[in-house]
Amino acid sequence: MSCIAEEYYIAVDLGATKTRIALCTRSEIIEKTVYYTPKHGDEYTIAESIYNTVVTKWKNLVSNIKAVGIASIGPLDIKEGKVVHASNVPIRNFELLRPLVKKFKKPVYVVNDCVAAAWGEKYYGDAVNYDNFIYLTLSTGVGAGVVVDGNLLIGKMGNAHEVGHIVIDFTSDLQCGCGGRGHWEVFSGGANTHKVLKYLAERIDITGYSELKERVLKGEQIDAKTMFDYFRKGDPLAKKAVDLYIQATSAGIASIVNVYDPELVIIGGSIFLNNIDVLYEPIVSRIRENIVTNPPIIKPTRLGDDVGLYGALAIAVYTPRKIIEIQGRLINEIIGVTL
Ligand SMILES: [Zn+2]
Repeated sequence: MSCIAEEYYIAVDLGATKTRIALCTRSEIIEKTVYYTPKHGDEYTIAESIYNTVVTKWKNLVSNIKAVGIASIGPLDIKEGKVVHASNVPIRNFELLRPLVKKFKKPVYVVNDCVAAAWGEKYYGDAVNYDNFIYLTLSTGVGAGVVVDGNLLIGKMGNAHEVGHIVIDFTSDLQCGCGGRGHWEVFSGGANTHKVLKYLAERIDITGYSELKERVLKGEQIDAKTMFDYFRKGDPLAKKAVDLYIQATSAGIASIVNVYDPELVIIGGSIFLNNIDVLYEPIVSRIRENIVTNPPIIKPTRLGDDVGLYGALAIAVYTPRKIIEIQGRLINEIIGVTL
């Protein structure tokens, strides 16, 4: 860093596996660091790891930090700025806003990661000129952030747009991690790839030899990357599974397009970004069969792996009015500033 800016922001992308933290100016990420999200400890361990990382890495600049934005896994209690009953993190309930405001003595805003990513697209990505758009992630799970008429939708607990639990097939036997059946995330969440493959291998007739089927029936755990590798090699079970992925994903996207009427849908997440060549064209053409509004532009995010960090930065710099209404009072109580 050759010149020192007067104002810095900290962006945090808190995932189930990894935590990414960036030192930023208003306009860009300057430097970032990644570590494994703590698996053991109490309700303050994760907040402490964030604070300690920032202080260790950017010690001389801490006093120049203006605000902190956190794009977090959920579910959230948005009023308290904490995570409650997280299903993928061993420390299932943990505080973020209170301990971090106390330590930084600056505003800290905590928002669902997909909701933040949508706001990031509005200020740093491809949604700059749009007031109606959706950010969708296709990764271990399926989630979305939605902007309607320029407003970032939040929900009563901050968990709006759990689109992964839209019922795609109410006759399905496939059970979602939440307990429901036939949800979009069962078909399109990377965490469920093995479940879908096993279901297809046991019940669907497949023409020709499938090495993937043999491996599945032997009880091997197959992940999404392996499934797409087999698809590219022409494996018939992988073809059935990817066809199902495309059908479910296009049904899900068509449903959210019909509900929110966006001009633009931006898609991120590792499964989509690593398989654009396989997924993009067929998903886009199938969506058109099932929507009642003008088709939106559909494109991959160009923020890549940094979409969560840009989301957190956008929340810190261009804090949505609704978030200030929800979290401002608590921040004010702790540090005595009026936001
Ligand atoms: Zn579900």
